[in-house]
Amino acid sequence: MLTPLLEKLLILQDRDGKRLGLEAQLKAAPIEVTMVEQKIAAEKTAIETARAELKQLESSKKLLETEIGSTETKLAKYKTQQSLVKKNDEYQALGHEIETTEAAIGTLEEQELQIMYQIDEAKKKFAAAEAVLKQNIAGHEARIRSLRERETNLSAELKEAQAEVATAREPVGEPTLRVYDRLATRHMPVCVPVRGNTCGGCHLKVSSEVESALRGKADPAKLVTCDQCGRIVWRDA
Ligand SMILES: [Zn+2]
Repeated sequence: MLTPLLEKLLILQDRDGKRLGLEAQLKAAPIEVTMVEQKIAAEKTAIETARAELKQLESSKKLLETEIGSTETKLAKYKTQQSLVKKNDEYQALGHEIETTEAAIGTLEEQELQIMYQIDEAKKKFAAAEAVLKQNIAGHEARIRSLRERETNLSAELKEAQAEVATAREPVGEPTLRVYDRLATRHMPVCVPVRGNTCGGCHLKVSSEVESALRGKADPAKLVTCDQCGRIVWRDA
């Protein structure tokens, strides 16, 4: 049977449970924010990687252009030399150089075309990826805002819950509170029913002494505790 003292303790326990739940949620809130922040950082890294790939292609194109330019200069030089030589074998040797150089320019220009095509593709991919990543980031940022809002609400709720705990403690005497608080640091719930001689907290059978204490005419000011786990017990059935 529930004594008035136990009823007060059950109210206290209920409010303490609520307070503990809020405290746990508040503790987890910054961890969630950090996790979302890490997601944002990953999206930003992905954008930067795509941008770096594009830059790499553009610098390869510049290098090729320089090479084409210097090869063309070489070709012009050979052509000038050829127009000045008198001997046939020299003329032919330069003609060979000119052919080789023209072929080299052709190859380089082909490579340049390929790179230009790759740049076009990379630009398209980058723009699409950037749009998706930016959208993701916006989603993450909205999530952080709502997490922060929740944190503020939880803080307010916790304050209320703490006040309710304080109110619930008032009618309970100091010695009982001491027992309750000591137990509460070890295991919640502190007060559990005994049904069929089994403790509702540790699920072990209570001793016959506890059993008879629960059966007998209980001193309303005295608490009965489980001899296995130490929780405050009452007989429920
Ligand atoms: Zn127990």
